[in-house]
Amino acid sequence: ALACGIVGLPNVGKSTLFNAITKAGAEAANYPFCTIDPNVGVVEVPDPRLEQLAAMVKPQRVVPTTVEFVDIAGLVRGASKGEGLGNKFLSHIREVDAIIHVVRCFEDENITHVDGQVDPIRDIDTINMELILADLETVERRLERTRKMLKTGEKKYQQEVEFLTRLKETLESGQCARTVEVSEEEQPVLKEMNLLTAKPVLYAANVAEDDLTREDLPLVQKVRDYAAQEGAEVVTICARIEAEIAELPEEEKGPFLEALGLEESGLDRLIRAAYKLLGLITFFTAGVQEVRAWTITRGTKAPQAAGKIHSDIERGFIRAEVVAFADLMAAGSQAAAREKGLVRLEGKEYVMQDGDVVYFRFNV
Ligand code: GDP
Repeated sequence: ALACGIVGLPNVGKSTLFNAITKAGAEAANYPFCTIDPNVGVVEVPDPRLEQLAAMVKPQRVVPTTVEFVDIAGLVRGASKGEGLGNKFLSHIREVDAIIHVVRCFEDENITHVDGQVDPIRDIDTINMELILADLETVERRLERTRKMLKTGEKKYQQEVEFLTRLKETLESGQCARTVEVSEEEQPVLKEMNLLTAKPVLYAANVAEDDLTREDLPLVQKVRDYAAQEGAEVVTICARIEAEIAELPEEEKGPFLEALGLEESGLDRLIRAAYKLLGLITFFTAGVQEVRAWTITRGTKAPQAAGKIHSDIERGFIRAEVVAFADLMAAGSQAAAREKGLVRLEGKEYVMQDGDVVYFRFNV
């Protein structure tokens, strides 16, 4: 599953948010594996289309797609030099697909800030600087190696040296690797290095309970301006409210959010933002046994999408029978959709679309 790492300085609200997440996840379904690692919380991706499909097909079970949240606590100034849990922390970040960076935007004199004043931009810089220093080490090591290879006279190494030098200069100037423009030939090199600051990031601005519906918070605006420079997203949340929502019985969650003037929980907004950030889409399988949602990257072709279900289906792929969610709903049933010619037969080169309802034919 897709994994988002939650990072941030101490006392910004990470554990409060993470506890809300694990609570929501533990309640949502039976995921035996999520009890194995206390730092991982698995939550369902909310999708009203899944309910509608289930209402039509009436399957034995309905399985939503999920996102993993990983609590990466323990980052302090000096982590890149191995202080505190530094190195362990950094290696956990290496394993996630995206970073959710929690920043404190709430004032509360009872809760001390590690650096005195509440200042989200300084907080972001503190964390980013540790990640940048770790990346700089990775890039320098690779640069040294590539320079040696250059002596063989192969031209591709010259290009790589140039690219690595550009990366190094960016990092040295205090900027994240994600701000560097990368050509198609350079992509594989970047990917191999798995740089921390090249991962997509989402800033979660943790605001006070009363500020959640305010649009004009100066501290949040600062975070937005900062994020805009790196093409990152900002989601405003209140960790304390998330914790309260997580405690409520299912039927009370909606009315509680409504009373606060909110349409959905911060957690749901985080999940949706992460989906967008990572360019993810959902397709469905809809049989009488099981109606299920699956996550893929935009641009995935039919056989690889089938591979999410089982590698045998990808290997033996013959064709996909595809109907768009809206077409299926309009037709009223799968049989009706077939009669109306709305079910298409697609081959190996078909690029999956968000909301496709699919049946894969394959050789065993
Ligand atoms: P962590 O060190 O980043 O994991 O931070 P915690 O989640 O332990 O939160 C630190 C303190 O801030 C705790 O006392 C929380 O109750 C408090 N806190 C977290 N989120 C909020 C919030 O949204 N509003 C207020 N007022 N306090 C919060």
